[in-house]
Amino acid sequence: MLPDLRTAIATVCLSGTLDDKLAAAAAAGFDGVELFENDLLADRRGPAEIRERCAGLGLTIDLYQPLRDFEAVPPDVLARNLRRAEHKFDVMAELGVQTVLVCSSVSPDAINDDDLAAEQLHLLASRAAERGLRIAYEALAWGRFVNGYEHAWRIVRRAGHPALGVCLDSFHILSKEDDPRAIRAIPGEKIFFLQLADAPVLPMDVLQWSRHHRLFPGQGDFDLTTFTRNVLDAGYRGPLSLEVFNDVFRQADPYRAAVDARRSLLALQDSLGLLDVPAAPRATGYAFAELVGGPDLASLGFSRTGVHRSKPVELWTQGDARVLVNAEGEPGEIGALGIAVPDPAAAAQRAKVLLAPPLSRTAGPGEAPLTAIAAPDGTHVFLCADDDWLGDFVPTGESAPGAGITGIDHVALTQPFDNFDEATLFYRSVLGLEPGATAEFAAPFGLVRGRGVSGGVRLTLDAALVRRGGWAPAVPSPQHIAFTCTDAVSCAEALRQSGARLVEIPGNYYDDLAARTDLPAERVAALRARSVLYDRDEHGEYLHFYTELAGARVFFEVVQRIGGYSGFGVVNAPVRMAAHHEARRGR
Ligand code: MG
Ligand code: MG
Repeated sequence: MLPDLRTAIATVCLSGTLDDKLAAAAAAGFDGVELFENDLLADRRGPAEIRERCAGLGLTIDLYQPLRDFEAVPPDVLARNLRRAEHKFDVMAELGVQTVLVCSSVSPDAINDDDLAAEQLHLLASRAAERGLRIAYEALAWGRFVNGYEHAWRIVRRAGHPALGVCLDSFHILSKEDDPRAIRAIPGEKIFFLQLADAPVLPMDVLQWSRHHRLFPGQGDFDLTTFTRNVLDAGYRGPLSLEVFNDVFRQADPYRAAVDARRSLLALQDSLGLLDVPAAPRATGYAFAELVGGPDLASLGFSRTGVHRSKPVELWTQGDARVLVNAEGEPGEIGALGIAVPDPAAAAQRAKVLLAPPLSRTAGPGEAPLTAIAAPDGTHVFLCADDDWLGDFVPTGESAPGAGITGIDHVALTQPFDNFDEATLFYRSVLGLEPGATAEFAAPFGLVRGRGVSGGVRLTLDAALVRRGGWAPAVPSPQHIAFTCTDAVSCAEALRQSGARLVEIPGNYYDDLAARTDLPAERVAALRARSVLYDRDEHGEYLHFYTELAGARVFFEVVQRIGGYSGFGVVNAPVRMAAHHEARRGR
């Protein structure tokens, strides 16, 4: 029998005042919240009214926090700490919350004495028990003397009070690379609370890392599946609760962030085998990419091979690359992606369970019914079976000779600043794409962060590293489709001949390329003559070139992958961006 676990979110995860946070948590389907004291202090309502508000929203308050710097102190400090604690107990009684989080002390008053810590926590637990309350003791990764969960558990065990247990926080444990297997040795009923947070691995001070860079599970580098499995194996059956301090989530739309948060727990439950949902689809490739407006595809060697039966949409093809051009909508952007999956109905069912926003699309008589969902940046994602949808297009009989383009390699989408991590989790959980490493680079007009997600199809997701200011000469939110070819130099030559507008790369780039690689001089000369960029990794090489901007924010890339190269030529992005800017101004 699978445990049916409740879900909760700490109010500190979300932006807004307390009521914004509570309403957003309830709307996203959470069962409960961890109430942060600061959110209570800033609210005009008394604790009893807040309790009523939560009940009205269908939310329980599962934890009140924090009570800091309590244990292992001299007698006079202990007296003051007990007075603080009693006040919190009063508030908790009115709120109707049973458990308070006590985090390990960082106080200069604290003494390195486990016996004293156990004795004072026992006293605190006795006071709590008198009022039907309980204490969850958490080791902060930066606690002065107690900074590991096994240490916290030793103290709790020594204290030996039924109203005293531990709170396990995945960040504090995994940030220190503590082995989560020892969690299994803690009796489940002594794990009073479980807090989940992911994070990117960053070599930085752990306190700053925790305060600014926590992420929802599945968005960072931690193995939350193994961690949580250990906690469940220990017998814990309390809520899965998110405690994520993140600079971006703190300012993002709380309703949207709450859905992102809940999706992270659904995906985690799925990874643990606790969710009744179809497995992630195994994409087999791009069925199509859809452009809004009419960039010139003829000069890229594409043929207009079909016209949609009922919609103002044309089908342009070259090799296996299929591009739809939709006359309706905001011109010059990528409107939709068609992802080929073996079982679209199962993929759609999974998308629904994982809270992907559905899009209603009308199919004409005899047309293929397509399921579409909205990605975080608004791109429509169609889940398609093979080539069924091709029947919706009336063939034109047109066929151009082509320029050597053979398919779609990847699609690059700039993400809204607030939704970069949400996008990673969306593609990972809904479509089963695996995120690659995050790369950051200095572009001409600011820092850019990007990562690829791949698995049957490749996407790159980019975002400005900091929110843009007023001076922004860059193309806002650029997007591109990268096509594959088998010989980038000859393809670039063919496209130039057919009138395609390709960006020119400065000579300095090739002088440097010759100096930092062992490429033969003729090879570098051929790349230079066609403005083809070059990258390599330990598995192979990547040759790529770009068209000028072909719409408000869309351009094209053509790539040749040699060997097992798995990247996207990110190292060349600043040079390409400067060349694009120059082309837009007119050389
Ligand atoms: Mg915590
Ligand atoms: Mg690219």
